[in-house]
Amino acid sequence: MAKRIAIVNALVVSMTDSRQPREGFVCIRDGDIDEVGAGAPSFPTDGIDIIDAAGAVLMPGLVNAHTHLYQVLLRAVWEDLELMPWLKRIYGCARVLTPAHFYNGSLLGCVESIRSGVTTVCEHNFLNPSPECALEAIRAMQDAGLRAVFARTIMDAGEIVPECTKEKPEQAFRLIEALVARYQHSQLLTFMTGPNTPPINTTSELLREVRRFADANSLGISAHVAESHSVVDAVRHQHSKNGVVEFLQQFGIPAHNSIFAHSVHVSNDEIRILKETGTSVSHNPVSNMMLGDGVAPVVEMLRQGVNVALGTDGAASNHSQDLFDTMKAASLLQKVHHRDAGVIKPNDVLRMATIGGAKALGLDSICGTIEVGKRADLILVDIDTLHSQPVNDIFSQIVHCAKASDVKTVIVDGEILMRDRQFTRLDDHKILAEAKLANRDLMQRVSRLSF
Ligand SMILES: [Zn+2]
Repeated sequence: MAKRIAIVNALVVSMTDSRQPREGFVCIRDGDIDEVGAGAPSFPTDGIDIIDAAGAVLMPGLVNAHTHLYQVLLRAVWEDLELMPWLKRIYGCARVLTPAHFYNGSLLGCVESIRSGVTTVCEHNFLNPSPECALEAIRAMQDAGLRAVFARTIMDAGEIVPECTKEKPEQAFRLIEALVARYQHSQLLTFMTGPNTPPINTTSELLREVRRFADANSLGISAHVAESHSVVDAVRHQHSKNGVVEFLQQFGIPAHNSIFAHSVHVSNDEIRILKETGTSVSHNPVSNMMLGDGVAPVVEMLRQGVNVALGTDGAASNHSQDLFDTMKAASLLQKVHHRDAGVIKPNDVLRMATIGGAKALGLDSICGTIEVGKRADLILVDIDTLHSQPVNDIFSQIVHCAKASDVKTVIVDGEILMRDRQFTRLDDHKILAEAKLANRDLMQRVSRLSF
């Protein structure tokens, strides 16, 4: 018999257009969004799991388009450093990171993500001292029940990259092929590949080869792009190019299935390359502010029609996995940067956190909006709260008033992962206790390292 859920009395923010939402209902059948309607449902409700959403917004689950989940173990470590010396330490951790750190850290990251309304994560993986590290990060996301993109990237050069995590392209490609084959029947997991942070930890040979490999295996590409001035200086001095996007274009890296995290220091000409190639950007404003990187030209990207998604980045530079924080930061940062209160609209920010993210990850036919035929990746956000009432503009108030702690219920692929703030498949107390132990172990190991 079909498994049916009906969410009723909800203020439905479908993200299919910018009209003010109406009160209505959504029906789910075997994980598919089956019906979206105004008012109350007219069908008999026997045998259907009814969720009364009175006082809440029903919206698409949030898409975190760029993170490193295990980094919750590294919250507020090395937080006063700018990108290069900070990266030297983050990479250096590869010398002591174990598969258990990846599992316990990533699982806590998943708990925090679900609690804050995230239903899809793009885990940009870049430290692989052993193949088990990737397997354990994936196991955590699967245990949590999140929809996930595992972007298994490669580093083959760079003085700040420890030898244990540098790979020859061919050797990395074999491992990625094995990963993709192992999880080929996994409904919630897809893969990307990519150069991690070109050009500071990738050779030109890798950039050429990774595009060929990605195309041969129908994989998208995820990369850290133009995050700080230091990366742009590297392409100028070593490769005589004006910017990282321009540099990457000669290798065919910008493309419709590529997502460039950060893209802080990109020129208007480079934004035109992003638009013409259909490349998406993951904007990570909290991380950019934390590391003092600068302000990404998001307004110009939107003006030129680039698809922009939103990410937290890892907790080592955020220090949370909270996309509500990130939405508010994305809005306010552009307003203050341009000294123009109207320069970005709340609906633009909500699009980045939902359908923009889904499109960037190649999942826009599956999730990102509330539409019949898509899978049910949905969240209920309580707006009957002191900090959200009275409601005058729901889009602005989701971005600027709502908090992660207002997320009541989270559904991924039709499965209820959290209902009225209670997890259905995870023991969050146990996960937290194990993550604390993993953190203590990691910090002891890191204290013996020299950077
Ligand atoms: Zn990152």
